[in-house]
Amino acid sequence: MKILVLNAGSSSLKYQLFDMDNGNVLSKGACERIGAGGTITHKRPNAEPFYEELDLANHSKALARVLELLCSAEYGVISSIDEIGAVGHRVVHGGKMLESCIVTESVIKYLETIVPLNPLHGPPAIAGIKSCLELMPSVPQVTVFDTSFYSSIEDFRYIYPIPYEFYENDKIRRYGFHGTSHRFVSYELAKVMGKPIEDLKIITCHLGNGSSVTAVEGGKAIDTSMGFTPQEGIVMGTRSGSIDPTIVTYLIKSKGYTAEEVDNILNKKSGLLGITGLSNDCRNVTEAAENGNARAELAIKMLVNSIKKYIGSYIAEMNGVDAIVFTAGIGENQWNIREKVCENMSYLGIEIDADKNKNFERGVPFEISAEGAKVRTWIIPTDEEYMIAIDTERLAKK
Ligand code: ADP
Repeated sequence: MKILVLNAGSSSLKYQLFDMDNGNVLSKGACERIGAGGTITHKRPNAEPFYEELDLANHSKALARVLELLCSAEYGVISSIDEIGAVGHRVVHGGKMLESCIVTESVIKYLETIVPLNPLHGPPAIAGIKSCLELMPSVPQVTVFDTSFYSSIEDFRYIYPIPYEFYENDKIRRYGFHGTSHRFVSYELAKVMGKPIEDLKIITCHLGNGSSVTAVEGGKAIDTSMGFTPQEGIVMGTRSGSIDPTIVTYLIKSKGYTAEEVDNILNKKSGLLGITGLSNDCRNVTEAAENGNARAELAIKMLVNSIKKYIGSYIAEMNGVDAIVFTAGIGENQWNIREKVCENMSYLGIEIDADKNKNFERGVPFEISAEGAKVRTWIIPTDEEYMIAIDTERLAKK
């Protein structure tokens, strides 16, 4: 079966078409600047990428052009839309929806009710789903939620210690994000270790521009660093991660910032960018630190320390750990961050081989544990789109 996976952002639409019979990616690409001009980059294996600038007024126009390209004689990989067996949508926030599901009217209506929980990603995801219903009405649509991997977290870990009514009435609780990635890499880890996932305690570190750490026991998430929103947890590219909440009220009450300005500062101007004043990109921050920039050195220390604290606390929560996984842009590529995170952790059984960590193989699961280390440490490339395609095929076949 061929599965089209869509990931809609506020001004972008990323896509991948999979042939699930062999797991191959037939084509992938991205529409960007939707609503403010428009560009498409469309790729196929063994062919030059196709790029065009055109007017993409909305997500529906973008999807229509993607479908045209996928089916075109010159740049296409299928002969007609009918070859697409199902479409899988990445939806960041599923609210109370605990499992991936086939899209129905009531699913869309529910997603509309939880837009306030997810104002950035909710509307474009709904627009993507509606565009598919309009342009390919007979093809089943599946929604796969970043939050659903966290349905296994227990209440004492997801409820915040604020008046209980905020949980009951306003749905304020830990939801957790990046779940599709944490789920994918934990199952991949079990495969490469040749162990049943039911027997493993794993800590997965998804370190990208947005970053989160998750404790996975027996294949189920038991705790995660992101919370009510993706803002909580470790230091990120532009997000602060966890801070004393009184900083927010202090900025508003004593410094005259509006709530919106504080939101913007904490989401877009903090983290690596905020500390260094240079860049949100960990490669640039690493380079600046190597050249002696004191604030870049400080930012790296803060990032590393915030990851270490979650690893330590999850080992305490699970009473041990069998494996640590590094994934996403930083986790898969930046040996310096992995090295510093794993430094001085031998008390907990975490020791890596400096040489393997530095000369790792990219794009494949790669073990970097030191000989004889009690805890196994792996780099596992994430593939959220493939995970979405797997769920989509499973549900479409039912
Ligand atoms: P997101 O998907 O959250 O936007 P990514 O997973 O692409 O982010 O990660 C981006 C981060 O990974 C950046 O901080 C970047 O510096 C870092 N990084 C390091 N090396 C690479 C690389 N070779 N490719 C992509 N990102 C890299």
